[in-house]
Amino acid sequence: MIPINEPLLDGNEKKYLNECIDTGWISSEGPFVQRFEAEMAKTVQRKHAVAVCNGTAALELALAALALEPGDQIVMPAFTIISCAAAIVRCGCVPLLVDSDPVTWNMDIEKLKEKIETEIGLKNNRKIKAIMVVHIYGLPVDMDLVLELAERYGLKIIEDAAEMHGQSYRSRPCGSFGDLSIFSFYPNKHITTGEGGMVLTDDDHLAERCRSLRNLCFQAKQRFVHEELGYNFRMTNLQAALGVAQLERLEEFVARKRSMGKRYSGLLQHVAGLELMPAKTDYAENIYWVYGMVLNEEVPFDAAEAMRRLGQKGIGTRPFFWPMHEQPVFRKMGLFKEDSHPVAERLARRGFYIPSGMALTNEQIEEVAEAVKNLMRGEG
Ligand SMILES: *Cc1c(COP(=O)(O)O)cnc(C)c1O
Repeated sequence: MIPINEPLLDGNEKKYLNECIDTGWISSEGPFVQRFEAEMAKTVQRKHAVAVCNGTAALELALAALALEPGDQIVMPAFTIISCAAAIVRCGCVPLLVDSDPVTWNMDIEKLKEKIETEIGLKNNRKIKAIMVVHIYGLPVDMDLVLELAERYGLKIIEDAAEMHGQSYRSRPCGSFGDLSIFSFYPNKHITTGEGGMVLTDDDHLAERCRSLRNLCFQAKQRFVHEELGYNFRMTNLQAALGVAQLERLEEFVARKRSMGKRYSGLLQHVAGLELMPAKTDYAENIYWVYGMVLNEEVPFDAAEAMRRLGQKGIGTRPFFWPMHEQPVFRKMGLFKEDSHPVAERLARRGFYIPSGMALTNEQIEEVAEAVKNLMRGEG
């Protein structure tokens, strides 16, 4: 079986982990946590970084730090991981969904503009307080218009850069945009800590709130007296040790991902029926966090069937995200009753991705591409 993902841990990971064990520093109080935070902040050109236990927690922490009012609304893409909408719902706010761009699979910024201009400009909907930007699979969201809209209407920006380590938008690092940004370090991300996440910001006050909320809102004066309900979202020194070792290789990993993506594209570009990821746009070069593809309408089977057939040939696959407005959990809450986002709905049904992990070899890429070609010829 060629697995969908396998991380590379052959740098200083063991050495730093041994340091944790030899010194006894394994909790969040250990020195690798601050070091990892400082190095991530430097990498994405942010003033502050707050390490947490996973990317989902990072989103929750970022929203909690903004201290929004219950009922406030946040605009976000329909096509993303549930963590984004869950974080919004958990803080008592309401997600407003925007459909995807059919080429980049990111939030369609023309539709975002239309949504915001209609809701705020025409209907004077003052409940909209923020935009959650999520960069999907390899290319960043086209940020210029997002920044302009946020500025014009006084909206906060939360940037979910969980899939974008080492990526930039017009030569500015992803994770440096908006009031707060987040990363995940799950093993399928470019750099991993096993489980892990981070919130970054340039705002001193928001950074202080994130630090406090991450650690149960303990107080300096009277430790066990609390003014606000926090979370235990702390990252351990063991995780941060992995993070420091992984971050040392970020450039190498990004170069490898790009070369893997190009290799797949070279092998698959003329295969009828496949829509592949664009190599670049005018603002970024694809980083191929995962190598995704969409079956066009001429293909007589859907992504689920394609994945089943590839699985029989020993090729690991994953489906694309399932849109937020089609999530039973949110429908049961009465959310998104009027929503229809045809591009996101199509991506969910026709899209999937193939093995894309850092440890994937060129031989494996050839083998996977061959299996995809056979599948599309009807021989798979
Ligand atoms: C992976 C991911 C997350 C969640 O990160 P976890 O560490 O798995 O909780 C959030 N947003 C996006 C876009 C992701 O890809």
